[in-house]
Amino acid sequence: MAADRTIFHVDIDAFFAAAERSVDPDLIGKPLIIGGSGGRGVVACASYEVRPFGVRSAMPMSRALRLCPNALVIKPTHGLYSKISKSFMEILGDYTPDVQVMSVDEAYMDMTGTEGLYGPHEKAAQAIKKRVHDELKVTASIGIAPSRLVAKIASDERKPDGMFTVARGDEAAYLAPMPVRKLPGIGPRAAEKLGRLGIHTLGELAAFPEGPLRREMGNQSPRLIERAKGIDNSELSTGGKAKSISSETTFHEDSTDRVFLNKTVADLAEGVGRRLRRTGKHARSVSLKLRYNDFTTLTRHNTPHVSFDGDARIVEIATALLDATLKQRNAPVRLIGVGVENLAEPAAQLSLLEAVEPDDSALSSTLDKIRDRFGEDSVSRGPG
Ligand SMILES: [Mg+2]
Repeated sequence: MAADRTIFHVDIDAFFAAAERSVDPDLIGKPLIIGGSGGRGVVACASYEVRPFGVRSAMPMSRALRLCPNALVIKPTHGLYSKISKSFMEILGDYTPDVQVMSVDEAYMDMTGTEGLYGPHEKAAQAIKKRVHDELKVTASIGIAPSRLVAKIASDERKPDGMFTVARGDEAAYLAPMPVRKLPGIGPRAAEKLGRLGIHTLGELAAFPEGPLRREMGNQSPRLIERAKGIDNSELSTGGKAKSISSETTFHEDSTDRVFLNKTVADLAEGVGRRLRRTGKHARSVSLKLRYNDFTTLTRHNTPHVSFDGDARIVEIATALLDATLKQRNAPVRLIGVGVENLAEPAAQLSLLEAVEPDDSALSSTLDKIRDRFGEDSVSRGPG
């Protein structure tokens, strides 16, 4: 278990509403609700302007409109959200390969030991916030803490457009005055039970004797007390030791067009390759994720003998995986993802065999430099 970690929790503020505003600035400042407007519509996202009226996500739209009759209701534009989400995760991936994606607009980053690269953690967080704002026209809040749990609470507390650091050793004091509902996992029913014991704040929960708590809350009591103190040793699930980098895209329309699918795989592979080279590591495996129109999802892996970090190799392996998968079942495809896995230091893998790889690696690095200077679309490999 790694001690002394620094975890960022990065979360876009009122994501769907912010995304709509990024393409239609007229919506800025207006009371906006994203969701289905029909009789059974539900609020998918409430902008900050409607929250004071009590409008919340997952609330029936009819109720939301009774609370805030002037609200503007917009149907979700999912293509836009996935596009912004993808760019958001790519920005985070530029700072560390250890990104755990929690949802479209939310991720944990393990930033342990990155001060040498980016300076103090607050400076890195500011840089990430600035890139998200400048490139995606939305704002994000960042919590910085020694654990995922406290980082998440810290980012939630500072929304919107906030940033807050909870230093090691300060976790329990930071959480103590907060109502128990602030602890992820404590819902209304658990809060009610705790209330019956006279426990209203996390400080009270942290100090409560385990025995009596167990009678009300059962076996989860010891863990609950620990978490109320801000103790959370959970690791980021970024693939554990076998760290990975991946990217995926959902199509507007399901596709069986092989030229289009091949091109998508190549684009995803090049994006992943670029992020891989920024880590300075080599990958041992490539993965391909395929979701069919009936939502069946498959993930295939291939681990060649020689590690790699060049685009051509990743494209080649991912395309072969696509061929093999579609040969088994050729149905319309809804989503494709490409990943590289089992990342390791190239020095640890030097062998005679690898001497055949540097060409692709060197070409890919050159392409990266050109793209860094002149933009993403300035250069591409031949038709792929
Ligand atoms: Mg959010």
